[in-house]
Amino acid sequence: MVTLKDFQSLCLEKGLRATQQRYQIYKILAGTTSHPGAAEVFEQAKATQPMLSFDTVYRTLGAFVEKGIISQVEILAGKVRFDGNPHPHPHAICTECDKVVDCHHISNPQPKDYPNVPGFASVSSAHLELRGVCQECAAKSAPRQAVAK
Ligand SMILES: [Zn+2]
Ligand SMILES: [Zn+2]
Repeated sequence: MVTLKDFQSLCLEKGLRATQQRYQIYKILAGTTSHPGAAEVFEQAKATQPMLSFDTVYRTLGAFVEKGIISQVEILAGKVRFDGNPHPHPHAICTECDKVVDCHHISNPQPKDYPNVPGFASVSSAHLELRGVCQECAAKSAPRQAVAK
C-alpha cells in the first residue's frame, strides 16, 4: 500500500504538488492492475471524496501521465485506460471485453531496437500490445461455436 509519504516524495521528484485529493486518486491506481478508465477511477474516488468532480479526476490523471507518475494505455476507439505502473511493459487487450492484462513475462521492446523509422529523428518509447480474447470471453462464446459446428 502506497503511503502519503511515498506519494509526497514521488511528487517532489516529479515536480507535482502533492495534495490529499491527488493522493486519493493515485492510491486507486497504485492499488490495482485492472487499468481502469477515468470513469472507474472517478467512481472509486467518490467513495472517499464525495465532493470530487469528474473533471478534477480527469485533469489529475492527465497531470500524472504528463509527469510520468502513471502511464496510459490507448485501446480501440480512442478509449484511454490508466496504469499505476509508469514503466513500459507489454499489455494484452481482450477485444471482446476490453480487459487489459500486464505481461511481465514478456520483455518489452526497447526504442533502440527501432532505429530506422521513416521520417523520424528519434524514437523515445516502444510498447508491445497483444490483442486477443480472454479466457472468460472465450468460455462465454464457446457454446455458440459448438452449435455452429
Ligand atoms: Zn474478455
Ligand atoms: Zn499495465
